Amino acid sequence: MALTGLEIFKLLPKTNCHECGFTTCLAFAMNLSAGKIELSACPYVSEEATAKIAAVDEPPIRRITIGTGDKALNVGGETVMFRHENRFENPPGFAILIVDTMASAEVDARLKRFQAFRYERMGFLLRPELVAIRGDSKDAQKYADLVVKVKRNSDANMILMSDDIDVLSAGVEACADRKPLIYAATPDNVEQMVGLSIRYSCPVTAKASSLEKLVALTTLLIEGGVNDIVLDSGSRTLRRAIEDQVFIRRAAIYQNIKPLGFPSIVFPCEMTDDSMMETLMAAAFVAKYGGIVVISDFQGETLFPLLLQRMEIYSDPQEPLMAPEGIYEIGEPNQNAPVLLTSSWPLTYYNLSLAVEAAHIPAFLCVQHLEDPDVMCWCHHCMRSTQRGKFNAENTGRFIEKVGIKDRVKHRKLVISGRNAQFSDELEQVLPEWEILVGPAEASQIAGFLPGLAEK
Ligand code: SF4
Repeated sequence: MALTGLEIFKLLPKTNCHECGFTTCLAFAMNLSAGKIELSACPYVSEEATAKIAAVDEPPIRRITIGTGDKALNVGGETVMFRHENRFENPPGFAILIVDTMASAEVDARLKRFQAFRYERMGFLLRPELVAIRGDSKDAQKYADLVVKVKRNSDANMILMSDDIDVLSAGVEACADRKPLIYAATPDNVEQMVGLSIRYSCPVTAKASSLEKLVALTTLLIEGGVNDIVLDSGSRTLRRAIEDQVFIRRAAIYQNIKPLGFPSIVFPCEMTDDSMMETLMAAAFVAKYGGIVVISDFQGETLFPLLLQRMEIYSDPQEPLMAPEGIYEIGEPNQNAPVLLTSSWPLTYYNLSLAVEAAHIPAFLCVQHLEDPDVMCWCHHCMRSTQRGKFNAENTGRFIEKVGIKDRVKHRKLVISGRNAQFSDELEQVLPEWEILVGPAEASQIAGFLPGLAEK
């Protein structure tokens, strides 16, 4: 387990020299233990202390990378049981299942869905990351052809699944450059899997029928020189699988049991035939420690909520999720589209963007990063947004100039929230080219406001 702030403090020089940017070594230690700074920021830590801190700094759940380049998926690297203790590090990957006995048209449709389901929310791209390719045919050539097809027609990271070593070898050979996850090493084939994993430098899944057998299996893999391991406890009922996830996480974090210090893979697709139930199970695994979640198929109405849930759970609880500052397009706005001003606070941003979307009027949102959640509020949750002094017209004026909305529209009309009505004159003074229009006080009333404005 990582060192606490006080434990780190004991290893520091304690001279309070300020060179790290903190006034005391204690403040530095606290920030280091919270993961907010790097140890290298202090130039005076002894080699011995550096080695000690680095040794315990290795996360109890090893971080594993599947794939290569900027689309590679990192899973694991976790350090806590509960999100509020610090944060969860690497969101689980979602995989769609493709089987080599499927009709070609079905494979094509699934690959198309995999590529198509991408959503932008608050400046973040939400998308699935993996295709799990299962070889049921036992035909190595057929399997390798399917792997090549997936590789050519998608940017997916791949999970290669077969209980036949020849089939797996053919698949790995066809896409080794994409660093797939090999599924799975079992007590019966562990030597061959060690060879395959080491030969192609690919991570491998350890699958056993109980946690005790899983510990024995990962120990063999580690002794064989394989360090990048993903765990499958073999459970295929929700209750048992969740219990296993919790047990594995507790054993790794609290007891530092190394053979269980790896991310896991779970299979809602093998637990039910009901797609809605499968989605609920996947949601449970997003909350409870699934590293990779394999789903039988993707549909927008079930995948999108999972992606949103994942984004929320894997955001840093100590830093509120904010929409990155900038211009956001709702629909396909043209040069005459309305321009609305809002802040980057999630409730405000969500309320306004969803209301504009529902109004079916393409528009630009200018989202300004603000520390104060009450300013530029469009939501009914916040009743303090009209407090004077919080709205800084000069800052907002500078933001509107800098963000470049002038180049995107022909008009010069900027809509602000009705709650900021008393600042409209101030804003007009710092933005003399612009006419400041006071919109409704709440986003929910935007549908009655935008059509008239768009017409003008
Ligand atoms: S630079 Fe190092 S010694 Fe100086 S205050 Fe920071 S932690 Fe302490």
